[in-house]
Amino acid sequence: MNEKKFNVLKKNFFYIESYGCQMNISDNEIVISILLNNGFFLTENLKIANIILLNSCSIRSKVELAIKNRLQKLKYLKKEKPILFGILGCLSNSMKKNFLDNNLINFTIGPDSYKKIPSIIRLSMKGEKISHIFSSKKETYNNIKPFRKKNKITAFLSITRGCDNMCTFCIVPFTRGREISRDPYSIIKECKTLYKKGFKEVTLLGQNVDSYVWFGSDELKKRIYKKIYTENKKIIDFSKLLDLLAIEIPFMRIRFSTSNPHDMSNKVIEVISKHSNICKHIHLPVQSGSDKILKLMNRKYTRKQYLSLIQKIKSIIPECSISHDIMTGFCNEDEKDHQETISLMNEVKYNYGYMFSYSPRPGTYSYNKLKDNVPEFIKKKRLQEIIDLQRNHSIFQMKKYIGKIQEVLIEGESKKNNQYWYGKNTQNIVIVFPKKTYKIGETVFIKIMDYTSATLMGIGIEKK
Ligand code: SF4
Repeated sequence: MNEKKFNVLKKNFFYIESYGCQMNISDNEIVISILLNNGFFLTENLKIANIILLNSCSIRSKVELAIKNRLQKLKYLKKEKPILFGILGCLSNSMKKNFLDNNLINFTIGPDSYKKIPSIIRLSMKGEKISHIFSSKKETYNNIKPFRKKNKITAFLSITRGCDNMCTFCIVPFTRGREISRDPYSIIKECKTLYKKGFKEVTLLGQNVDSYVWFGSDELKKRIYKKIYTENKKIIDFSKLLDLLAIEIPFMRIRFSTSNPHDMSNKVIEVISKHSNICKHIHLPVQSGSDKILKLMNRKYTRKQYLSLIQKIKSIIPECSISHDIMTGFCNEDEKDHQETISLMNEVKYNYGYMFSYSPRPGTYSYNKLKDNVPEFIKKKRLQEIIDLQRNHSIFQMKKYIGKIQEVLIEGESKKNNQYWYGKNTQNIVIVFPKKTYKIGETVFIKIMDYTSATLMGIGIEKK
């Protein structure tokens, strides 16, 4: 890029892409809002954009590679016009070094520095190379109204940022910093605004939602939170927050993600069962079925404790679906450990899950202190085994829906057939069905006729 040619005063259009988790998608909405309020214009057209932002995730090496490939592909734009490239989100130092120091990009901005993005872009336009990555104990973006696309009916809302858990394989505590919970009053207010705008479902996000906690100051408690605080319940934990939200937005569906098994309390399970508008689905990453590996990962629960939590969920909310994250091939994982993961999966029979093999991330404990000693071909083989097993379990779970009637919130047109809608039931299972005269945002009753491992198919019926 010829920085001298960059006209800082002309209209600046930014284009943004997101990689990684739901948290990044939610952060995109914050970044867009900040830029729109500071004289920048959003575009979905790369030809128009003169600022390209890639919101990254460094939890897995795959994403780093995907971003590298994307930057290579977009390189041609530099020949056509003055253009800036910036990487946002969870950035490892290696990413910063690889991309910024090698002139592939102009700036990097960490998740706690988004309010600085307009000034960083302006400085980059003058030719400065900038990296602004620091973690804050205060930043929650409470006062930013996230940008949300029109005609959407589901929204993400962050309730915590960062994580204190220090799993040995994870970069999040270093890139997103210590855990901070967001003020409950602003969460309730934003949910109510979403409902007024036509949203029908909200997903509460956090790296570890179950450790949400809000103390507030005495003065604030008296003046603002009278409704929230009661004499003997001065602290708002996640169960209380869910309870309050379910009452305050009774016609909105509430989901949440992600739960750490170590922090999920009985109270949370009871609150989920008590309210019909809290969805009956829990994403409960286990990572491994072996105590030896869980310990090496610093997951703070044992296989037995995890299984007893599953038991509790199933006994209090029998219809609850459960999904997982499993990592295969972690340091020192042997065949016995792998078989313990297989046996745990057989015991739980998850509805679905996200599976991947271990890749050491620079800056983490496992990268610095443990040996990545499982050969790649064994990692691949074990990963394939758990993927195949999960597919069987998903089919087993899906079969149970045949002939049943499901309440489905319509989210949009099916990608495979424009004569069909798709939506989800309370268990977060995707259901497709003929459009009839239904509209997006409606809740309809669907009789399930068929299934694949990932989708249910049905027809709309009148519920008497
Ligand atoms: S709970 Fe563990 S895996 Fe999840 S974000 Fe925190 S440190 Fe990372």
